[in-house]
Amino acid sequence: MKSTPQPKKMPVGWMIFGLMLIIIGYNYWSYRCGYCTIASLLSLSAPAVLLITMNIIACVALLIVKLRARQQLQRQRCNCGAVLRSIWLFCPDCGGARQK
Ligand SMILES: [Zn+2]
Repeated sequence: MKSTPQPKKMPVGWMIFGLMLIIIGYNYWSYRCGYCTIASLLSLSAPAVLLITMNIIACVALLIVKLRARQQLQRQRCNCGAVLRSIWLFCPDCGGARQK
């Protein structure tokens, strides 16, 4: 019972890099098709700003959910590292009382 799955780290850097690549790719495609100019190649349109804002809000919400899940998992652990079921008052490994 001591081995518990570790939470995966979010690849935020890769997400930002991918987002920048998509924006530049889309703007390059727009430039090639004549929809934008060199001056507006790196600018963001209103839908892009909305999309980025919604993505940031979604990332913050995901972070909050993951932090709450991690806190809940820590509450289910004993000081020795064993995972305790919700009805257990004492640790079966070390015999220590559950922390509240
Ligand atoms: Zn214990």
